[in-house]
Amino acid sequence: MTSITLALSKGRIFEETLPLLAAAGIVPAENPECSRKLIIGTNLDDVRLVIVRAADTPTYVQYGAADLGIAGKDVLLEHGGAGLYQQLDLNIARCRLCVATRKGFDYATAVRPGGRIRVATKYINTAKAHFASKGMYVDLIKLYGSMELAPLVGLSDAIVDLVSTGGTLRANGLEEVEEIMPISSRLIVNQAALKLKRDLIKPLLDVFQRTATGI
Ligand code: ATP
Ligand code: MG
Repeated sequence: MTSITLALSKGRIFEETLPLLAAAGIVPAENPECSRKLIIGTNLDDVRLVIVRAADTPTYVQYGAADLGIAGKDVLLEHGGAGLYQQLDLNIARCRLCVATRKGFDYATAVRPGGRIRVATKYINTAKAHFASKGMYVDLIKLYGSMELAPLVGLSDAIVDLVSTGGTLRANGLEEVEEIMPISSRLIVNQAALKLKRDLIKPLLDVFQRTATGI
């Protein structure tokens, strides 16, 4: 029997995907927050979920280890999108990718063409492209989390990070100085799987699309 595998990350993406799955008649057999299982069955014999780190979702789908996945646009931009088909905007896990600095840092002067800035981020590719488009020199420092600390201890002038309420920035004396782009999560599909398992995948895409756009 053919079956399909959907890659999801724990936390907000899993939580916000549940209603979309429900609309497609899919109910996970377990909650990954409580279970240590990485492969989770559903009420449908031919649909299973794999629980991956958010930044790994495009990789599982690219290589066909998962047929479909749900990943933030931030993660997809860094990955580059090779081997992935369709980026249906599900309008979930919404936030924005921003530049933030310490309060009082003169960002306007730093970003003049020819200017130079030290930026800490986990979004190296996206940050590089952003500052290059402004004609600036940028020294990028790769971090894996808690980016807010970097400007406070002199590791960088600025950070490129996701912001939703801005509470974490404020709590650490930082301020948002530029929005790079709005972010939401997308459904991605392995190109070969879409052709080979179209009968299973296409109806799911249709339900997700209708539910996400409220039609
Ligand atoms: P971890 O938190 O385990 O280090 P992560 O930060 O990559 O991993 P999540 O925090 O679950 O994982 O984020 C997953 C996706 O959700 C991100 O790629 C982004 O698209 C989105 N996201 C991140 N932070 C927020 C936020 N504060 N509000 C809304 N969406 C967010
Ligand atoms: Mg996180």
